[in-house]
Amino acid sequence: MDAVPVRAAKALLLAAACLCVAACSPGPQKYGTAFLGSFDTTVQVVGYEADEREFSRVAEDAQALMVELHRLFDIYNSYPGLSNLKTVNDMAGKAPVEVDARILDLVEYGIQMHAQTGGAVNIALGPILKIWHDYRAEGREVPPSELLEEASALCDIGGVRVDREAGTLFLTEEGMSLDVGACAKGYASGLVAASLPEGYLLNAGGNVVASGLPADGRDAWEIGIQNPETSEEAPIVTLAITEGAVVTSGDYQRSYTVDGVAYHHIIDPATLMPADYFRSVSVIGADSALCDVLSTALFTLPKELGEALVRSLDCEAIWILKDMSIEMTDGARAILKDGA
Ligand code: AMP
Ligand code: MG
Repeated sequence: MDAVPVRAAKALLLAAACLCVAACSPGPQKYGTAFLGSFDTTVQVVGYEADEREFSRVAEDAQALMVELHRLFDIYNSYPGLSNLKTVNDMAGKAPVEVDARILDLVEYGIQMHAQTGGAVNIALGPILKIWHDYRAEGREVPPSELLEEASALCDIGGVRVDREAGTLFLTEEGMSLDVGACAKGYASGLVAASLPEGYLLNAGGNVVASGLPADGRDAWEIGIQNPETSEEAPIVTLAITEGAVVTSGDYQRSYTVDGVAYHHIIDPATLMPADYFRSVSVIGADSALCDVLSTALFTLPKELGEALVRSLDCEAIWILKDMSIEMTDGARAILKDGA
């Protein structure tokens, strides 16, 4: 959740305002818009309304909620009058911080998913992820293993204390920190999608959630999965989704190169290095937060372990391997567009 330059956000908003498209047929028409300013990504909203003003109202509410959630879950920036996750990280080892219930919900969910994924996703991995983040941002060498080892002593999820009664969050050791990058965008997208009327689609930088079918008679939304080799071109796989979420974790989303080797942003807690199994993993399921957690978890796990995990949690998955071959669960194959 790096900060988005305000000028760029404004420019995109202006462009987005011109993006609304309406077909010339009677009945509900299709509208779309996009905005920056949350979760370090472009968020698109698509929906069908009889009236453009009604669509704009829905899209503005969605934007306001997305930005509000971004600020609560932000670990990089402070906002006047708001206790967010950065406040909690800054107060590690010092004092509990009273926070919005949605922060407590997200953190409790993260603790639960640490257990469910066997530690593959750990929201207390902040000290390790900060080292990788800083070395990447500064385009430096690969972080020394001693530095990573030292930081790993401060990544125990047991030191994250949620007190529901007091409404507080506390990290027990100074130097501990939360990083909710693996799940916050999916969690927020799920909340925003739930606030949308039927027949809307939300796409937060590849975290896609459909709430009901498109109101143009089609029996599914077509969701493309990005080719890890080419950012702009045709999707490598297209799915037909009637409802729910599709979330992808990929090595192309954030990386830097040292001596010709690319180092990306998803860290295997076992090695403290970028996970090295796949180019991308997509997870399809009813719940956006779960799909987000699982796409990160599966990216760090051998295929057999990941497959057992998605099956146990009632989701489907698509793995793009390092040789660009594609593997998927039977349920994912069943929703390929045109059965391709
Ligand atoms: P995603 O794109 O959803 O797979 O999330 C990637 C982001 O999650 C990274 O930018 C980090 O902020 C964070 N992250 C990376 N590896 C892990 C991990 N093993 N456990 C928890 N969070 C992680
Ligand atoms: Mg994720």
